[in-house]
Amino acid sequence: MRPTDSGTRRNASGRNDMTSTIGFIGLGNMGGPMAVNLVKAGHRVLGFDLAETAVSALVEAGGEKAGSVADLAAAADVIVTMLPAGKHVRQIYQGEGGILENAKTGTLLIDSSTIDVDSARVVSSAAAEKDMPMVDAPVSGGVGGATAGTLTFMVGGSEAAFASARPFLDIMGKTIVHAGGAGNGQAAKICNNMILGISMIAVSEAFVLAEKLGLDAQKLYDISSTASGQCWSLTSYCPVPGPLPSSPANRDYQPGFAAAMMLKDLKLAQEASSSAGAATPLGAEAAALYTLFCNSGGDAKDFSGIVNFLRGHD
Ligand code: NAD
Repeated sequence: MRPTDSGTRRNASGRNDMTSTIGFIGLGNMGGPMAVNLVKAGHRVLGFDLAETAVSALVEAGGEKAGSVADLAAAADVIVTMLPAGKHVRQIYQGEGGILENAKTGTLLIDSSTIDVDSARVVSSAAAEKDMPMVDAPVSGGVGGATAGTLTFMVGGSEAAFASARPFLDIMGKTIVHAGGAGNGQAAKICNNMILGISMIAVSEAFVLAEKLGLDAQKLYDISSTASGQCWSLTSYCPVPGPLPSSPANRDYQPGFAAAMMLKDLKLAQEASSSAGAATPLGAEAAALYTLFCNSGGDAKDFSGIVNFLRGHD
């Protein structure tokens, strides 16, 4: 962390820690509660978002409104971004009036958006040219994890940048993993979610086949959950109602993790596959099936709702 001139403050647990001025851009479903946790830890948080209501929510929680990205960047010791996609991240960092043009040398940059690996690496090297250490730090854990401060962060960047970012990530998350150099946080996120998308389809197909064969869903669950078919999609997120009361299947597939978000991650995995020359045929098939599911009205359903699409009805 760069030396801060912001002094000390009493944080939420009553300790006096060195505090920083943190600029937070993108105060949506995830960024909003993440920024609030930084406020609760005693940091001064300046927020910027295109949506006025998102900024007001931060101000109500004790943060401050920044007039522009440029104002925020000039004032901050640390900048966190939580934006929809790579094009927003490139524009906010590299565009006119953006972060790289206005932040001080040495400002620590943390991008927690889920974006394409190539954009993450391009922005990181542009930041390095300005002597601003940067990590890509996408998350899993959803809005619940963002609110509770229990997110998992998958972090790409140098050892030094990771060490600087860690105290801030510790406030917003519970599990913080350094995945390697720039872009490797994004790489870890999309590889993991490609496994998840493919395995959810595999488990769903097995339940649909079992139905057709007259095999009870609970029986299949009891057998496969202790046999070689066992996987997270089966035993932590079972796509049919009954065997696992906590899974979204028991609440009409309310997310959870929306199918549209799964599709976004599967498309990012396919972009990365073509850019890197990797063969990911099952990832491609998963992306195609989730596209069909989303286009047929499933986009706001939990991603495990694909079982109904495979069954041929809602
Ligand atoms: P969101 O749409 O709720 O929030 C994005 C925010 O960015 C919005 O408030 C929007 O106004 C703001 N924004 C967009 N362009 C901007 C700009 N140019 N300047 C300032 N603000 C701008 O999205 P979210 O659910 O918070 O997701 C954010 C990121 O986190 C995405 O990359 C998403 O893939 C990832 N993610 C989301 C979840 C989840 O469960 N929602 C889980 C893991 C990762």
